[in-house]
Amino acid sequence: MDEQALLHIYDTEKKKKLPITVSKDPLKIYTCGPTVYDYAHIGNFRTYVFEDVFIKTLNHLGFQTKHVMNITDIDDKTIKKAVSLQKPLSSITKDYTDAFFADLGALHIQKADSYPRATNFIPQMISIIEDLIQKGIAYKGKDNSIYFSISYFPSYGRLSHLCLEDLQTGASNRQTMDEYDKDAAQDFVLWKAYDDKRDGDIFWESPFGKGRPGWHMECSAMAIHELGPSIDIHMGGVDNIFPHHENEIAQSEAHTCKHFVKHWVHAEHLLVDNKKMSKSLGNFYTLRDLINKGYTGLEIRYLLMQTHYRTQLNFTLDGLNGAKKSLQRFQDFILRMKEAKGESSNFAVSIINKTKAEFKKALCDDLNMSVALASLFDMMRDVNNLFDAGKISSKDGMDILSFLEECNQVLSVLSFDEMSIPQDILNALEKRNIAKKEKNYALSDELRDFILSKGYIIEDTKEGSRVKKV
Ligand SMILES: [Zn+2]
Repeated sequence: MDEQALLHIYDTEKKKKLPITVSKDPLKIYTCGPTVYDYAHIGNFRTYVFEDVFIKTLNHLGFQTKHVMNITDIDDKTIKKAVSLQKPLSSITKDYTDAFFADLGALHIQKADSYPRATNFIPQMISIIEDLIQKGIAYKGKDNSIYFSISYFPSYGRLSHLCLEDLQTGASNRQTMDEYDKDAAQDFVLWKAYDDKRDGDIFWESPFGKGRPGWHMECSAMAIHELGPSIDIHMGGVDNIFPHHENEIAQSEAHTCKHFVKHWVHAEHLLVDNKKMSKSLGNFYTLRDLINKGYTGLEIRYLLMQTHYRTQLNFTLDGLNGAKKSLQRFQDFILRMKEAKGESSNFAVSIINKTKAEFKKALCDDLNMSVALASLFDMMRDVNNLFDAGKISSKDGMDILSFLEECNQVLSVLSFDEMSIPQDILNALEKRNIAKKEKNYALSDELRDFILSKGYIIEDTKEGSRVKKV
């Protein structure tokens, strides 16, 4: 059996783990991107890090991928911000798009093949809406907006497993005046008519009047335009399942008459201190907030990916400190492997082979990251024992490092470069070693404190002294 056929992933629609099968073409992957009206928060980044790990796993296993992530640069929130700040929409969205890309870089998230922006696809959206009107599936509401009539799409609800009658009852109970603009409460907007009080000078002309596209329509139009009518994998957070992805299916399939998505994959929510993250509770973090507290992008990435993506992740600062420590264990281990000079044995090779198999098996089982990481910690424990017994040769060390580099193609949290230690720190270390040898403990302590004040600590090992970042 081809090894690529072994990767299984949980499909939200089919409600079971399904294999990702090989085809000669790259896998077409669409992921819902940010709405660029503010900084993305760590809950958003949990989803983006998961998507990155999944795509890197696919690539690691030999799958070719074509990944598209949209940028929502027009919707209620972006308009509201631009109108309230009296700034052009494009200047708001550009600033937050730039910030988003900077955050992706800090988290070592690989760039998608393209990042279509919604405002560049308005003609494509209009043409899909025109087609749906022509087919009698979309209609103009009393407020002049265009709505999709879900009664013409019998399989509506198949992704979220919600029953249409339940949806209708639930919706009519909390129906607001706005919803009387539509024929049925669950019909959703494809084109939102312009409102001068709400929208300022932000609108596009269309055959159905001034206005702007609905958010769901944006994703359908960009996915179809960039990847074609049928895509292999569509991802997002669980909060996207209903109504966003359900609506994407309805309008895309009603338009193209083709099956829209083969596999739907969703990442669970992130909680902070066991509560839903919200600005009013004071438990709301952007990536920048955490970096300002002194954490690195890699530490945050490690924390976000170490919990299985289908389990709720409870974010705490204690947890982040734990992630920092785990990562430090990896980095200490990498340093040790670079210094290995023990005798040669066959133990290292057999440990690598065993770990390689366990790591791959865990990833292939619905991206079970906690098991994959546990296999690496087991390896580090066993190898450290051998190292202490002088049984890791420099060749073993190199082999182990090259295996870890392979794992890091997926993990993207480890650093293999020589640490660039500033020269004044290295000079101080040298002076301190001499002072210590000369039993000048006052000077040796003074130099140790100087090094510490610069954010480095000294480690005295059998191989000599070295400094590392605190
Ligand atoms: Zn979307």
